[in-house]
Amino acid sequence: GPVMEFRDVWFGYDPTRPVLRGVGFSIPARGQTALVGPSGAGKSTIFALAERFYEPDHGTVLLHGRESRFIPYSRHRSVVGLVDQDNPLLAGTLRDNLLYGATSVTGGEIRRVLAMTGLHRLIETLPNGLDTPVGDHGRRFSGGQRQRIAIARCLLAEPDVILLDEPTAHLDPDSENALAETLHEVSARCALLIIAHRFSTIRTADRVLVVDEGRITAAGTHDALSQEDGYYR
Ligand code: ADP
Ligand code: ADP
Repeated sequence: GPVMEFRDVWFGYDPTRPVLRGVGFSIPARGQTALVGPSGAGKSTIFALAERFYEPDHGTVLLHGRESRFIPYSRHRSVVGLVDQDNPLLAGTLRDNLLYGATSVTGGEIRRVLAMTGLHRLIETLPNGLDTPVGDHGRRFSGGQRQRIAIARCLLAEPDVILLDEPTAHLDPDSENALAETLHEVSARCALLIIAHRFSTIRTADRVLVVDEGRITAAGTHDALSQEDGYYR
């Protein structure tokens, strides 16, 4: 069954002015789903409800078929992972950052995730490898590196669905291509729900959900949707 489902979800920051107005969709257990739509359509708000920063005013959010509001927060955290646009690092070492939120991780698993996210090369060049202190909110690392560290951390915690707010926003084209490959690999193991601003992200998604004025107005593959009249506008 689907890993995540929104059923007729209504929500307003001010309950008299709903921002989500009957959102419904379901996310299969594998693959990439892109959320697209104009600014202010409600994409970030959908993320906020998926993460349980808010509960719906009406309707339900389900995880593995269970109403998310009945799932303990500790368990919820291991189902839904988040990679934000900005990924500040903890003050500890790279290892501390990667293992934050992970329960039991083997050395092999760490090596696999580092390779998958392209971090192994970075770690080989650091004086103390994984034990290099991050310091200063990780500003010694580039935006692309912090992004990959955030994705690696998320993977090591083994959530069933990962939410990513335009993961390629701050990347150069090379890093963007590399990250696209990483996400493709990752999506063979878990579900990705991605707020997509860039066409490249939309094009490589397995499924696209169009959000407009607080509703899902179309769903399908990018190719199928682009053949429909009025799509995106
Ligand atoms: P998108 O991510 O598609 O750009 P958002 O979910 O950020 O859309 O915003 C949807 C609507 O909700 C907008 O009208 C926005 O102004 C409003 N909104 C977003 N976040 C807040 C907030 N924290 N408090 C009040 N209104 C908000
Ligand atoms: P940034 O992504 O900010 O440019 P780096 O300068 O460390 O970070 O990137 C070094 C190289 O690693 C880049 O040329 C990029 O193409 C490559 N790279 C980025 N992400 C990945 C990845 N997920 N897997 C493999 N290589 C990657």
